[in-house]
Amino acid sequence: MTQESLLSKKEILRMMAGFRRFRERFFKEEHSVYDSLASAGQRPKTLMIACSDSRVDPAILFSSSPGDIFVVRNVANLVPPFESNMGFHGVSAAIEFAVVNLQVENVVILGHRQCGGIRSLFQPENVKEGGFVAQWMTIAKEAKEKVLAALPGQDVDHLCRECEKTSIVTSLNNLRTFPFIESAVQSRGLQLIGVYFDLELGHLSFYDDTADTFRELDITKAHPTA
Ligand SMILES: [Zn+2]
Repeated sequence: MTQESLLSKKEILRMMAGFRRFRERFFKEEHSVYDSLASAGQRPKTLMIACSDSRVDPAILFSSSPGDIFVVRNVANLVPPFESNMGFHGVSAAIEFAVVNLQVENVVILGHRQCGGIRSLFQPENVKEGGFVAQWMTIAKEAKEKVLAALPGQDVDHLCRECEKTSIVTSLNNLRTFPFIESAVQSRGLQLIGVYFDLELGHLSFYDDTADTFRELDITKAHPTA
């Protein structure tokens, strides 16, 4: 492919124009950020596991700078349970690298409203039968059953909203099945945090494990300290 044909595609051209703006910002106005990241390497304090959904980009949501967050994105922001067989565990590999090598201080599971992956649990006709998405989503099967038992007779939309939150708790529990995570929690206070972004209302909730519920975060109390 030539540059001419690459830039003849409208969507690619739009992306490359975006890259030009990014370059102007970070390599001209804030060059020192990339300069130090390139020479000292990355030292993100947080691993974030988010959905691949194009509306839920953690860097945009949290106004992050380059180097701030180590991000794993997958369908429905799920963490699989620890498995000792050596398969192609992309999510587990990223978690291991962040916790063992980068020594992050926090692991954040970021769920969201209108998650297509979660919806497929209640409307399986939305995804390919026997395909990768259906298989992947079995991680959240227990969350779905819990929601169905707690909210009998509710409409799909309501069930999805609850399951989007309940599956975050499943993922938090699955995180602790990784021996190196449990060990980091015990030895150096690694924090495991669940948050939920309601993209309809623009609200952020967090999982309060002492009450086993999600509470809306009062962002007026969130002031940067540095
Ligand atoms: Zn999603």
